[in-house]
This record gives sequence, structure tokens and C-alpha cells, in this order.
Amino acid sequence: MNNFSPTTPAEIVSEPSPLVIPRAQHSISRRLIDEDALKILYRLHRHGYRAFLVGGCVRDLLLGRTPKDFDIGTNATPSQIKRLFSNCFLVGRRFRLAHIHCANGKIIEVATFRRQPRPEEIPAEPTQQFRFVENVFGTPAEDAFRRDFTINALFYDIATFAVLDYTGGIADLHSRTLKVIGQPEIRFREDPVRMLRAIELAKRLDFTMDDKLIQGLHACATFIADAAPARIRDRIFELAQRGVLGTILREAAAFGMLAPLLAGYQGHEATFALLERLDERSAAGVPTEEPMLLAALFLERFLAESPPHNSVVNALKITNELLQPHCQYFRIAHGIRHQAQEILITVGRLLRGPGARGARRLLVHPFFAPALELLSLWSLDHAVLEALIRSWQNEPLSGEKNMQENAPQQSPKRSGRSRRRRRNRRKAPGACSTSALPSPSRSPES
Ligand code: ATP
Ligand code: MG
Repeated sequence: MNNFSPTTPAEIVSEPSPLVIPRAQHSISRRLIDEDALKILYRLHRHGYRAFLVGGCVRDLLLGRTPKDFDIGTNATPSQIKRLFSNCFLVGRRFRLAHIHCANGKIIEVATFRRQPRPEEIPAEPTQQFRFVENVFGTPAEDAFRRDFTINALFYDIATFAVLDYTGGIADLHSRTLKVIGQPEIRFREDPVRMLRAIELAKRLDFTMDDKLIQGLHACATFIADAAPARIRDRIFELAQRGVLGTILREAAAFGMLAPLLAGYQGHEATFALLERLDERSAAGVPTEEPMLLAALFLERFLAESPPHNSVVNALKITNELLQPHCQYFRIAHGIRHQAQEILITVGRLLRGPGARGARRLLVHPFFAPALELLSLWSLDHAVLEALIRSWQNEPLSGEKNMQENAPQQSPKRSGRSRRRRRNRRKAPGACSTSALPSPSRSPES
């Protein structure tokens, strides 16, 4: 912390002037700003600090979209922020950030303006470099230039209600162009995750990448392998929750970024299409859980490598070979990997059809519902499986079981007695959902 250099008034005076878009010339009204964020901005301002809305929320408000979060930038240091807000906690491994906890469980991030350190300032000790580089305080202009894209570097100043543009973001918003601040190749080397953010933002906002950005992505695609696995894993999971993972991975593959992004993973069109089906499901309000995502990522290869009527033992071996290196690289918990394997193995058993030996036991298998759902999503692009899916869905226990899966606190284990009773009931209509995956324990049927 001793290395941090707080902003001084002298620095503010000497910083480059932004393009100022006065309140009358932009569309950000205070009515559109989260009221807790607004209160924080006002309090910082009243205490003499500069207080801006920063980043994606300014971009989204100017585009008439609803921001995902409202981030605040200020020249108050983290400890000064903490003194102003009793509900403030200083957090962050990468950035030293202030989190202000609001009444309704909402957390607003307040960050001190930062800058890129000069090379001679960076500590020699490699373990200290990353934290240092991310935490050198700076002026608003410096803070704008350390951001990733011009459209993400706009500030809304609570003192004047004006939008401040240091990097040309307003013009790029108007022309719907995504542009990196600075040289893409340098910025992507500094932080390869920016490449994934570029692909995601262009897709989400339906913006065109400028030529330099496209060239930078082609040139630097393989650097993504240098990003911390935990960050990539979080990002991938977030993309799945946002319902855009399929398209983003397809685009990443087009830039030659897929294998370096996912530890050597080779995905093909059928997998991207399956992920898009999961995305649609997620957009319809069924969140994608990590075991399901993992199973979806590897379904195509599992099916390709499994011979017809594969034994469960062999299926387990194949899933181990497919998932183990991926899970080890991304430090995915054993329980999650185990559930993904169970889903895949159960898909293999479903492919044998409801007439096969052991099929009745499969109907009460804890992973029957998620496996059937995954196979149903796959069948949407593989019409040859439609009849098989229907026959499973029409099995008397199938719908019943799916309803059981959805019931809160339903134990995956069934007693023999209740199983007999359910057998005579009719299937309930409606699609199955895996919003509550069963516990990872292996069932006796497997
Ligand atoms: P959204 O919240 O809608 O996903 P966002 O652009 O706000 O999009 P955040 O992760 O909330 O994304 O980041 C907030 C801001 O922080 C960004 O708009 C950008 O200015 C800056 N930022 C985030 N990640 C990076 C990065 N890797 N490099 C440089 N600046 C970044
Ligand atoms: Mg944001």
C-alpha cells in the first residue's frame, strides 16, 4: 500500500481536458441512476471529492440500455471512502476497492482513480507486480486511459451532470464502433481478458469492431492462455448466465482463441449450437449450473468417443479422460466434475432407449432429468434423436420424476415403496428443468 500515489490537486490541474458534453446535450437523467449510487455520488461530492459514474453504466445509459451495475470513480482514497461510509468494506485482490453495502443487499463499487504505472515504478519482485500495477492512483484522465475501450471510458460528473470524454468514446458510441484505447497489441498483452471482453461487448451491443481491434485479436489470440484460469472460468460462467456463451465461443474460435482460452479445448459447430440452446434456456430464466455447462461443453466429444451400447465403466473412463485435464486446469471442484460426468454417463444410457435393460431404474436415477434435458437440447439440432427423446418423455415415470426434481428439498434417493406407488401414475406435462441438480453421490443404478 505504501507504493500507492494519491492524486494531488496539482495533478488534476495538469491533466488533459476532456470533451465535455453538458447535461442539455446528453440523455442521462438522474432518474435513470440507481438511487443508492446517486446518494454515494452526492456524499463524496459534498465532502469535496470528485465523484463520477464510470465505465459500462455510462455507456449503457447513453445507449438507452439498463446498466448491469453502477460503478463510481473518485479521487478519494479507499481509506477516505471508508471514513465517509459506515457501510463500506475495502475488498479486492486485484484492485483495492470500496464496496458500499446498501440496505437491500445491493453493493456499489467505489474505486479510486488509477493510472498505468511507469515501467521504472514497477517493483522488481514479480509477486508484487500485478497488485502494484493495478493499484497506482491517478487523475481522472489517467483513469480514463487505463480502461479497455473508448466507450467504456466515459464519465458522468455529479458536480455538473456533464459527461466527460477523454478518449473519443462519444464519437464511437455514435458510430457504434468498438475501439481499444491505445495499441490493441500492447493492451491485450497487458491483460488478455480484454480480448474476450471485446468479443462479448461487440456481440452484446451489436457494435462493429474497428480494423485495429480485429487485427489485434488475430495477432494476440493465443495470449489468452496467459490469463489466470480463475478469471477465465468466472468469465465463461458469467457469459453462460448472460445467455451469450455459444456465440462468444464460436467467435473466439474464429479468431483462433478457443484452444488457448480453454486449455486446449477443441469445440465444433455442434457444441456452439448446443451452448446456444443452453443460452436460450438461460435467457428464458433457467440459470445454467456449472455441471450442466461442463457436460454441454464435452457432450459432442463424449458422443463421438462412445461406441453404441457403451458400458457404464467405459463411459466413466471416457468422461474422466475428457474432463479431468480441463477441471484440473480450471481448478473445478471434484463435486462439479463428478456431476458433469454423471450427466454424460446418463446421456449414454438414455441413448440405449427406454426398452433397454435397466431402463426402469434409469427413470429414477438422480441424473435422469438433467441428462434428458441436455439430450433434448442437443436433439433440437439433431432431429434423428427426436423420437428417442419423445419416448423417454412419454415413459410413465419420466414427467413424474421431473416434477420431483423441481420440488424443493426433494431427496434424489427413492424408497422402493414410493417408487412402486409412482409407477402407476401418469406423466405430468411440461419440460423438465435442471435448476436443482441432484447431489453428486453415485446412485446404485450406475
Ligand atoms: P457490464 O458490467 O455491462 O458487463 P462493464 O464494461 O461495465 O460491462 P465491468 O466488468 O463492470 O464491465 O467493468 C467496469 C469498467 O471497468 C469497464 O467499463 C471498463 O472501463 C473497466 N474495465 C473492466 N475490465 C477491464 C480491463 N480488463 N481492462 C481495462 N479496463 C477494464
Ligand atoms: Mg459494469
